[in-house]
This record gives sequence, C-alpha cells and structure tokens, in this order.
Amino acid sequence: MFYKPDENRYKEMSYRRCGKTGLKLPAVSLGLWHNFGSVDVYDNARAMVQTAFDLGITHFDLANNYGPEPGSAELTFGRILKQDLMPFRDELIISSKAGYTMWPGPYGDWGSRKYLIASCDQSLKRMGLDYVDIFYHHRCDPETPIEESMRALDQIVRSGKAIYAGISNYPPAQAAEAFRILRELGTPFVLHQIPYNMLNRGHEVQGSFRLLEQEGVGGIVFSPLAQGLLTNRYLDGIPQDSRVARNGFLKKEALTPELLAKIGKLNGIASGRGQTLAEMAIAWLLARPGVTSALIGASRPAQIRDVVAGLSGAPLTPAELARIDAILA
Ligand code: NDP
Repeated sequence: MFYKPDENRYKEMSYRRCGKTGLKLPAVSLGLWHNFGSVDVYDNARAMVQTAFDLGITHFDLANNYGPEPGSAELTFGRILKQDLMPFRDELIISSKAGYTMWPGPYGDWGSRKYLIASCDQSLKRMGLDYVDIFYHHRCDPETPIEESMRALDQIVRSGKAIYAGISNYPPAQAAEAFRILRELGTPFVLHQIPYNMLNRGHEVQGSFRLLEQEGVGGIVFSPLAQGLLTNRYLDGIPQDSRVARNGFLKKEALTPELLAKIGKLNGIASGRGQTLAEMAIAWLLARPGVTSALIGASRPAQIRDVVAGLSGAPLTPAELARIDAILA
C-alpha cells in the first residue's frame, strides 16, 4: 500500500544537537538490531519504520551484522526505503557500522582498513544507498592501531560513502585518542554510541559523558530500556513473544528476584508520574548532559508510540531522581 507520512511529524519530537556539531538527532532514534531480520515478519518491520517516521524519528540505526541472518536487517531496511521512504531520503539520518564478525577469514571482523572499507561498500549495496549519513567503527580493536581504523573512517567520508564518522563502544581513553586523530585528519565526526540505562551506568562511572562534553561530540545511548527489562514486559512473568523467550541475547537468568523487585519499585514511581516505566527510563537518561539521543529497539509499533508519548512528560524532580538512585543503589 502507498505510504504517505504524517504531515504533523515534526510537531512534537525534539531534535538535539550532537555535541558542538551541526547535526541534530531526534531525542529518540530507532535501532534495527532485533526484529528486522530475515526471520522476522516484514510487514511488522515496515509498520515500525513507518510509525517511527510518522512520529518524527528521523534516525535509523543499523550495522552490517544485524539480522539474523547477518546483513538481513540492512536488506529489510533497503526494501522499506524503496517502498516507502526514498522520496524522503534527505529527511533521514541512516547509520551503519562495522566492527563485529561479518564474514569468514581475517578481513571480516574488528578494525582493519581492509574490513571497514569493504564492509561499508557491502552495507550500501544491501540498503540500495549511495551513502549513509553516519558510518561507525562498531568496537575498538585492541590489535589494530586506532589511527588505521580512523583513517579508514576518514577515507569512507572523503569518498562520499558517509557524511559523518562515528565510533561505538570505545573505552574513554581510546575514545579520546580516536577524537584526537579524527580532529587532526579533519574528518567530520559526530557521535559516540555507548550502552547506558538505569541498570548499566558503566560509561557514566568511567567518565565517557564528561569526555563527550569536553570534546563537543554527541552521545547516542543504546539499549536505554536494558533490552526490555526497564519496561512493564517482565513484571508478571516472561511473555512468549518477549526477547527473553525468543532469543539468547537477554537471558532468563538476568531476571533475578532482586532485579524484579527493583523494576517493580521503579514501575511504582513511573505510575505515580502517570507514565509507563519505559517512558520514565527514557526521561531519566535524556536528562544527563552528554546524551543526545536514546537509541531504542522495538518489537511492535505500539512500543515506539509509548516511548515517544513519554517525551512530553514532566521532567523528573530532584526528589524522584533521589528515589530512583536509592532503588538502584
Ligand atoms: P532497548 O533497550 O530499547 O530494548 C528494546 C526492547 O525493549 C524491545 O525489543 C522490546 O522488547 C522492549 N520495549 C521497547 N519499548 C517498549 C515499551 N514501550 N514497552 C514495553 N517494552 C518495550 O534497546 P535494544 O537493546 O533493542 O537496542 C536498541 C538499538 O541500539 C539496537 O537496535 C541497535 O541499533 C543499537 N545497539 C547498538 C549496539 C552497539 O554495540 N553499538 C549494541 C546493542 C544495540 P520485546 O522484544 O521483548 O518486545
């Protein structure tokens, strides 16, 4: 069926600047790690992308290996672009990455120039694009000089295959080194993509957000709902269609009685605010300086609508923040 985006799509969403760069991202971005592979239902994937765009989510995050099978999320997204979104290409920020295992042998993993450049070409073919807006090195490679990986990103941008470069999952010291090299090379770079949520504050403790603020680089935080733990999903058992039941990325063992008790208490604070826990979890991290966008995943359009509806909620009060900290302590 012919897709006509919502004419009001830019009315409610807020757009936040990536550090001191010219690029703005929606407060919520949509990632295609799960539920967009060849094993998933195409019509549902398409409905999620349409719903997101209708709500002002202009940024879609992919990687070479998203699926399963690896590569198939990019194929799915390419199909959706062709069917629905290509007329709006200039309204979109599309990102992809390379850094995890993608093809056999020594050139299909980690951070060599050989791998990054070849993988970017493959991603473009799968999505049917001439360029992506952001191309990331997906993880720091301890055996390849950071300079080699950054020079590869620089080349990808200079050859017109990406508009901006980004890095992901770099510890702060290596991130600082990568920023220095990119700055010296004159490479336009905008983002560091790191995990962050109420249950995973490692990068906050390590100083990643402080570094991003100092450097004027944006921070996009992935798994902001802790893969679904920070929602109402598991409050009454494990639903058959949940990530825990469907694949091994989120393990049943993670759902300890202690964690479930914390989630129940957090849910109580959210209810007191008239919000779902998912909405409050997003409000909590968007309040942190250094966070540009919350990169959510979803298994159905209603989840995206829920998270976006929460953006208009009242900011968390100091008293609420203190209660949340006490629960998490
Ligand atoms: P989230 O923490 O947002 O978890 C998404 C899951 O939470 C959904 O699949 C769904 O679970 C559940 N959920 C979402 N919204 C709601 C809601 N409103 N109510 C109830 N449950 C909800 O993020 P992801 O872990 O999926 O990661 C998001 C994106 O981040 C990825 O797609 C990817 O783009 C990126 N990422 C990047 C990584 C990197 O190394 N750079 C690593 C991991 C992710 P269910 O399926 O059970 O319904």
